[in-house]
Amino acid sequence: MKLIKNGHVFSPQDLGRKDILIAAGKIVAIEEEISIDLPDLVEIIDASEKFVTPGFVDSLVHITGGGGEGGYATRTPEMNVEDAFNGGVTTVIGVLGTDAETRSLENLLAKAYGLEEQGLSVFCYTGSYHLPMVTVSGSIKRDIMLIEKFIGVGEVAIADHRSSQMTPHEMARLASEARVAGMLSGKAGIVSIHVGDELAKLTKLQRVVEQSDIPITQFYPTHINRSVPLLNAGFDFAKQGGFIDFTTSTTEQIIEQGEVPAAQALAQALENGIDIKHITMSSDGNASLPIFDDEGKLIDLQVGEVKSLHQSMVDAVKLYQVPFHLALTSITQSPADILSLGAKGKLTVGNDADLNILDNTSLSLNTVIAKGEVVGKQEPLLLSLNI
Ligand code: ZN
Repeated sequence: MKLIKNGHVFSPQDLGRKDILIAAGKIVAIEEEISIDLPDLVEIIDASEKFVTPGFVDSLVHITGGGGEGGYATRTPEMNVEDAFNGGVTTVIGVLGTDAETRSLENLLAKAYGLEEQGLSVFCYTGSYHLPMVTVSGSIKRDIMLIEKFIGVGEVAIADHRSSQMTPHEMARLASEARVAGMLSGKAGIVSIHVGDELAKLTKLQRVVEQSDIPITQFYPTHINRSVPLLNAGFDFAKQGGFIDFTTSTTEQIIEQGEVPAAQALAQALENGIDIKHITMSSDGNASLPIFDDEGKLIDLQVGEVKSLHQSMVDAVKLYQVPFHLALTSITQSPADILSLGAKGKLTVGNDADLNILDNTSLSLNTVIAKGEVVGKQEPLLLSLNI
């Protein structure tokens, strides 16, 4: 058992000063004052002058690596569990990407099981960028219904020269499969959408919503901060009730080419009146960050980092004056709710004990707790107080 004392708790809502008791990997009490006289059984963590938040939920990470757009030598490496914990991320959604030929869903699942054994919580999407969708069981529906880790399908590419150029009808059929499988298995059944930089932007999804009975909330488009025109299209999409996700991994060169920093995009979305429940940020960790010239030729390639998620949350607060609890919501409760992750993304009794302890001024990470275990610690915080 662990007792976190005197922290300023953001659930992500501001709960003020509270004590939090953790037992068997779960949050069992959040109270003004908790006293337990079992010094051998309860480890005390002093969180005075600290913020206590949910562990971050990163809704898009290429846990088995990605890329390869510049040939085999440019395939990016797998994510290590430390990459997540050092960035305060306690839950990740693992995905394939452009390459579903030399990378497989079987490998993705094996990696997910390995990360779980190391204390991280991992969910995955079946499918990948392209049609025909790769699956483990033979169909998207069966994968989502029968394989616990699969909570949806993606990231399906649109508006990108690397996409399958799907028709709206093909997209509607895919979304319908994921939706029905989600309903039958109590999962989100979400369709994660990779949006490229082509002019079509989100029109394919809008067509599907107009021409079918698929609700706009079935889609979860990412990379919406890729350019100002796409960001504006994303704001319209969110105003119609859709979800939008901003990518935090970037490079100076990508920003120069017109990408809006995720922290800035978050601030602008809020200024545009979009509900924080519809806005998330994700790292796109271990993705390749390819830069193409005007003729589509690759000129540079960097690797995305999970820790950019925490950095962008801090930037949103420090550089763009986003209230802390809202910036925090975009990387905790919002993705957990969109993906129906029940026990994740929120500090509440009964939920998994995934928590971060942050310095209350710099917002740097001091302690990371995943499923009740301390998995990352930047300074000696563990004290055995006499209670
Ligand atoms: Zn992508």
